[in-house]
Amino acid sequence: MTENTKNTSIWDAGGFGDEDLTELALQENAILNVRKLVGEISEMKGRPLTACVRSFGCQMNARDSEKLSGVLLRCGYLLTDDEDADLVIFNTCTVRDTANTRVYGRLGQIHHFKKSRKDMIVCICGCMPQAEGAAEEIHRRFPFIDIIFGTHNLFRFATLLYEKLSGGGAGKNGTVIEIWKDTQQIVEGLPVRREYPWKSGVNISFGCNNFCTYCIVPYVRGRERSRSPREIIHEIERLSEDGVIEIMLLGQNVNSYGNDIPGGMRFPELLARAAEVPGIERVRFMTSHPKDLSDELIDVMAGSPKIADHLHLPVQSGSSRVLHVMNRRYTKEDYLALVERIRAKMPDISLTTDIIVGFPGETESDFLETLDLVRRVRYDSAFTFLYSVRSGTLAADMPDQIPHEIAQERFDRLLTEVQQIANETIARHVGKTMTALAESTDPKEPGMLSGRLGNNIMIHFPGPADRIGTMVPVRILKQHGFYYTGEIAE
Ligand code: SF4
Repeated sequence: MTENTKNTSIWDAGGFGDEDLTELALQENAILNVRKLVGEISEMKGRPLTACVRSFGCQMNARDSEKLSGVLLRCGYLLTDDEDADLVIFNTCTVRDTANTRVYGRLGQIHHFKKSRKDMIVCICGCMPQAEGAAEEIHRRFPFIDIIFGTHNLFRFATLLYEKLSGGGAGKNGTVIEIWKDTQQIVEGLPVRREYPWKSGVNISFGCNNFCTYCIVPYVRGRERSRSPREIIHEIERLSEDGVIEIMLLGQNVNSYGNDIPGGMRFPELLARAAEVPGIERVRFMTSHPKDLSDELIDVMAGSPKIADHLHLPVQSGSSRVLHVMNRRYTKEDYLALVERIRAKMPDISLTTDIIVGFPGETESDFLETLDLVRRVRYDSAFTFLYSVRSGTLAADMPDQIPHEIAQERFDRLLTEVQQIANETIARHVGKTMTALAESTDPKEPGMLSGRLGNNIMIHFPGPADRIGTMVPVRILKQHGFYYTGEIAE
């Protein structure tokens, strides 16, 4: 296995460091080599080779899958949704132990395909093999997998694929395994195949420095590394030229963007600049750690109509004691004060959150603090999670793990509260005219379009299919739980 801990300087305003140019050239060369082999195999088979990329994780994971798809397309593969393909990649998540179990289950099905097609190539990558000892475990349990790689060296996929196709691979059955322990490297300029023509994620930083005690991310995505602002804005400009009108800036904690670039640009300025790119009509971002959300960011959001009227602000718990044990580094009072500052400048903003119920040591009174916070903030929606042990995190070894029945009972109470409040709060927009990005037609109801409003709520309305991929003014006529129905307001 390869370990990479070298420090590559990419922070200078110039964008590409020399080493990155070399790495990009290396990968482009590997793509050409794979393309040649794919062409030869394809000629032998008398048909194009197919590839299927499956994403199992968050928006960062989905964006990584778009990069893998871009490389595969450039290598000459035909992308398909069918896992019975010539090449399959499982881009995995490891946020909970159950996520691993899901992937293991799917690998059984892939093994079945592979038995009848010996030359099928199966790859597994992403957060799961990146976790300590996981790659060895995967290789031991599923020796038929051809390529195993992690998050830090995703950009080396073409090289690893070439190694496999040209007969390499030092593992049992010729498996190519490459896991880097860490990296400071960001390689710009590799191909990307976007899932939607009109919207795109844009990575602004990778990794996280926060070490919340329940979270595996800092261990599998490494320390925070910010992309150069120049590269980010260039990417957004290129996306806009290519027809993208909505972007989502992505980072594990966007609010600490740039902290690793001495004297460099911070998130509020980056966000303002992103919103100024001609052709971009809406900018979203995710995720915001409350401890790092600045007043400057609130001002930028309030001052730009292009920045979506939505803020996802994970609170995780309403108990300051639990927040301390979670290592969130804010208290319930800090969070409520922050919400007050946000609403003072943006009274109508849609606030959403994540909440974990049943964290080790959570008492009934801690839980009541969470319920109290939910009642005071009145979120437009909340993702509620039952705490589940993630091995490798500090919380996994904490005493006082909460019995499942108690956690489940609290979870149910919280869910009822959250749903009732959300129903009431999102009703405030009925009768208003807002802008939706029309994204699809409803196969069950021809003539109906589905779109997402700036506040992140879905709306369904009658309209022609040629409006898909455009911003449409819509009048909100009715609320149905968590979505609206409406009509075009022109
Ligand atoms: S901020 Fe906390 S929860 Fe979010 S990715 Fe970092 S460690 Fe995980």
